[in-house]
Amino acid sequence: MNIAIIGAGLAGLTAAYELRDSGHSVDVYEATERLGGKLHTVSFEAGPTDMGAEAFMARRRDAVEFFTELGLADSLREPSGLGSLVYVDGECRALPRGGVMGIPSSSEGVAHLVSAETAARIDAEKDQPGFDWEIGGDMNVGALVRARYGDDVVDNIVSALLGGVYSCSADDLGIRATVPQLAVEFDRLAADGPVHLSTAVANLEAARSALPTGQGAVFNAFKDGYQEVYETLAEKSGADIYVDSFISGLVRNDAGYTLTGGEDTVYDRVILAVPAPTAALLLKGVAPAAAEVLKTVKLADSVVVGMRFATDEGLPANSGVLVGSGAQDVRAKAFTLSSRKWPHLAERGGALVRASFGRFGDTIAVRASEDDLVDWALDDLHTITGFDGRAAGLEEIYVQRWFGGLPRYNETHLATVAEVERELADVPGLSVTGAWVGGVGVPAVIAHARGVAREA
Ligand SMILES: Cc1cc2nc3c(=O)[nH]c(=O)nc-3n(C[C@H](O)[C@H](O)[C@H](O)COP(=O)(O)OP(=O)(O)OC[C@H]3O[C@@H](n4cnc5c(N)ncnc54)[C@H](O)[C@@H]3O)c2cc1C
Repeated sequence: MNIAIIGAGLAGLTAAYELRDSGHSVDVYEATERLGGKLHTVSFEAGPTDMGAEAFMARRRDAVEFFTELGLADSLREPSGLGSLVYVDGECRALPRGGVMGIPSSSEGVAHLVSAETAARIDAEKDQPGFDWEIGGDMNVGALVRARYGDDVVDNIVSALLGGVYSCSADDLGIRATVPQLAVEFDRLAADGPVHLSTAVANLEAARSALPTGQGAVFNAFKDGYQEVYETLAEKSGADIYVDSFISGLVRNDAGYTLTGGEDTVYDRVILAVPAPTAALLLKGVAPAAAEVLKTVKLADSVVVGMRFATDEGLPANSGVLVGSGAQDVRAKAFTLSSRKWPHLAERGGALVRASFGRFGDTIAVRASEDDLVDWALDDLHTITGFDGRAAGLEEIYVQRWFGGLPRYNETHLATVAEVERELADVPGLSVTGAWVGGVGVPAVIAHARGVAREA
């Protein structure tokens, strides 16, 4: 069988790797001149440095086992465990460790981040009438938390945390789409009637505290960055990988599929491993109904500015700082203090810091010049942490714009994906995978791509 994979990001390369011993002939097409997509490791003099994803959820044992299978177990590195901060009302405060994605079960642990009135409201939520939750459905995170607890919980905590993962504020995200364990708990509680947010979160906290401890760090990174993953996948896949090959169309006839912009091959099977809007364009000619539904998935732009300083003197002893979405005096949405967060990066000496900008609907990534972005990163780092990057000696810098970096997982996203998949079920030899289909996290992208490849 001839198989074409469009997109050589994590999903496409994982699918190609999974097909390595299948006996099929596999061609991978990548529009840009490099592999990895949102995984991008650049060469700083001090060592390889990630400008896209930098870590993964190591509690996903399937991911750890996969990286072990790739021969990368010795490259996995654990974080220092230093706590993170959130910048609210002009100062850094401890990021709460309890709750679920920053949504608390009581005011304990978040009282330093919300008004006294909101703290009282959180504690009284269980005594108010519950809310109606449709079992199996979804709701907007921001709208629900605002309604139950108040605005400052969303603006100062939940949006800061979710924004770090999804480049969206809580008002652009769905509960089941981004905090699925909470939606499942709502489902369970809703079987008996209206639901209380604080009860659901408390139940999840209790279930978490009953889990055995000592399972290792929640997150891991790679010693030499994600290039270790995408280069290994590409090499071990044995596939023919065509870079600088933008596929602009897909044509289907009795013999199979041909690709506009691809080799002169007729393919029995095509796997689309590209962002949602591109997938919608490519599906137009072969699965118009699916394309129409998929068109509604929007992407969030972001920018990462990687900065290396000669000294780390004065840099706080924290893994990072998230910025509350209400902050008016800074433009950054987060700083990862990478050389504090990761001991293997600290060993290189100096300081490594990643500044992140941009949430869904904020066009900063497309508007700002590189010089402005660097100035904003240095100014905001100084304002937020007191660390003067200019005085510390800025040695290396890299600005990475992520146009459409992440799909928006809003409250209709999962239903949209399910509908696209239903439509595609009737189209033989065509499948979709990638961050918009089965989740944005690296383990989720890998798991989905492997599943899709195995269907071949
Ligand atoms: C800034 C940032 C930080 C992140 N941090 C983390 C993290 O720390 N941990 C974590 O788990 N996840 C993180 N993520 C999420 C994770 O990196 C992504 O979800 C994942 O890498 C997406 O992989 P993908 O293969 O689905 O898509 P992509 O990486 O987008 O790959 C799609 C590929 O398709 C190519 N393509 C597009 N159109 C065409 C075409 N017409 N023809 C040919 N090729 C085409 C693109 O060039 C690209 O290479 C982060 C994401 C971003 C943006």
